[in-house]
Amino acid sequence: MIQLKNYINGKLIQPLNNQYLDNYHPAIGLPYSLVPDSDERDVELAVAAAGAAFEGWSNMQAEQRCKILLKIADLIDSKNDLLAEIESIDSGKPVKLAATLDIPRAASNFRFFAAAALQFASESHHMENSAINYTLRQPIGVVGCISPWNLPLYLFTWKIAPALAAGNCVIAKPSEVTPMTAFELSKICMEAGMPAGVLNILHGAGPHCGAAIVKHSTIKAISFTGSTRAGKEIASVAAPLFKKISLELGGKNPNIIFADCDFEKMIRTTVLSSFNNQGEICLCGSRILVERPIYEKFVTAFVAATKQLKIGDPMDPETFIGAIVSKPHFDKINYHIRLAQEEGGKLLCGGNVVQLAGRCANGWFIEPTIIEGLPWDCRTNQEEIFGPVVTVMPFDTEAEALQIANSTSYGLSATIWTENLTRAHRMAAQVQSGIIWINCWLHRDLRTPFGGMKNSGTGREGGNEAMRFFTEAKNVCIKL
Ligand code: NAD
Repeated sequence: MIQLKNYINGKLIQPLNNQYLDNYHPAIGLPYSLVPDSDERDVELAVAAAGAAFEGWSNMQAEQRCKILLKIADLIDSKNDLLAEIESIDSGKPVKLAATLDIPRAASNFRFFAAAALQFASESHHMENSAINYTLRQPIGVVGCISPWNLPLYLFTWKIAPALAAGNCVIAKPSEVTPMTAFELSKICMEAGMPAGVLNILHGAGPHCGAAIVKHSTIKAISFTGSTRAGKEIASVAAPLFKKISLELGGKNPNIIFADCDFEKMIRTTVLSSFNNQGEICLCGSRILVERPIYEKFVTAFVAATKQLKIGDPMDPETFIGAIVSKPHFDKINYHIRLAQEEGGKLLCGGNVVQLAGRCANGWFIEPTIIEGLPWDCRTNQEEIFGPVVTVMPFDTEAEALQIANSTSYGLSATIWTENLTRAHRMAAQVQSGIIWINCWLHRDLRTPFGGMKNSGTGREGGNEAMRFFTEAKNVCIKL
């Protein structure tokens, strides 16, 4: 079994408690590596290293910081195939998806924020003839970044890169469910010449390692992506300590389809927005609302397209649906499929566990599942499932679509399909989501604000939003 190590003060070291967690290979259903279950003592060590490195890193010329981040990006690119394979084995996602989405995006995150290190600017406010104000945006110091399992290296680097670009030193924890590419990133940082202590990568369970990061008094900001449940816990610990917090949490995203949409394009994209990465993307549309005149046509085409999706070994380049990330998550999704049926839902396709032949015979696979006939306010339509499961519901009016779309406690993203420009803008303004896609899905510009409303979180990532989050604004007023 591969035994992972923490990356602290530029070195790979064992957890001080010598405790490890099993890490599973989801396509096989067996443990294959051991992840440190770090605790307060490892966090203490990492914080001391980060604190000692801060002066050097924050005072380094931005151009030099930029060079190191670019070097990391280049190394990620040069190891794309290896990292994609590792990511696929660890998470169950198809290797093709990891090679074309996850890993290239991890490199882009470093490249994008390397440029931001050079370009970040701040405001000046001129008070006619009396004074000039200017804003200093200074790095915070030691910050914490905690990420989930669904897009492991992609989301891990989405936090780390801006934190480092802004001049902070970082204590970062990947999900204990998918730690492997973060471990590879430790080695890449060593190869790239990252000064010791600037980035520290700790592995461990949320309640031990994650919680120790959140409550550490020296760590002044926490950037977290994960479940709404954990986000709530983190907020309750961090708020009384007056930490800055950015919380990117769960979702129950509506996909609103009007009869005047470009039907073929919508069907192609809706298959992706429903089932890409086994539906384990926080931005997947899990409630599909369809205007009644095209409801039957939609259901027929959508079910037919979904039945074409190949479920298989994540290592097979033809596979579209890989394994579910873990046994507990597999059980959770299956529970929700049963619940949907108890609530009166009718399975239009899927709903079953898949048993593959060969090496994946004991892996955790579930068919892409489409359910109809459920009321908008049932649990299936209100709770996040985070798997290859969607519901379809007809609607008659724009007002009804809006009411259903906004009916959940979440507000992460929404997709709207219509060729009517005025309606598209009207809906975009009224749907309660932080991200709205019109006639597309997951079309990302890294400069745009990224994040959710309501129980989907607080704060925004991306572009200058991230650079602002990872800096402290100080106004300087000069009397003329
Ligand atoms: P999770 O909340 O269980 O874990 C996320 C991370 O937080 C892990 O690293 C975990 O170890 C850590 N953690 C857990 N409890 C903690 C605590 N009390 N203190 C500190 N750290 C703690 O989430 P998950 O199951 O890994 O990920 C799935 C969830 O993430 C889904 O709800 C999904 O919607 C959400 N997600 C949101 C976004 C977004 O951008 N909004 C993106 C991806 C995933």
